[in-house]
Amino acid sequence: MTDLEHVLDLLPNYAFYFIDVSSTNFHGCIDYDSKAIYLNENDNDYVQLMTALHEYGHADDIPADYSNKKRYKTLLAEKQANMTATKLMNELFHKNNQLQQTFY
Ligand SMILES: [Zn+2]
Repeated sequence: MTDLEHVLDLLPNYAFYFIDVSSTNFHGCIDYDSKAIYLNENDNDYVQLMTALHEYGHADDIPADYSNKKRYKTLLAEKQANMTATKLMNELFHKNNQLQQTFY
């Protein structure tokens, strides 16, 4: 089982989809209504793993509309998701907790 498959197993209520997005700024997103998490299939394994953990953080959070990136509530949710991702990365895989980039 790969690290990513391990994370997918942590969220049995969600379906993961790998989508082809050419934008290098898009890594993934969560759709609370349809219980779907989308990951950019063009990202490397590490980025996909961090994104899956980040979306796990969102899945754990109160569902809300986080589409406006400038709203305070969105910024807080993103920070929370990044913290969850970093924590889980350490706990599950004992990997370097230094975020190589900011995930949204
Ligand atoms: Zn996010």
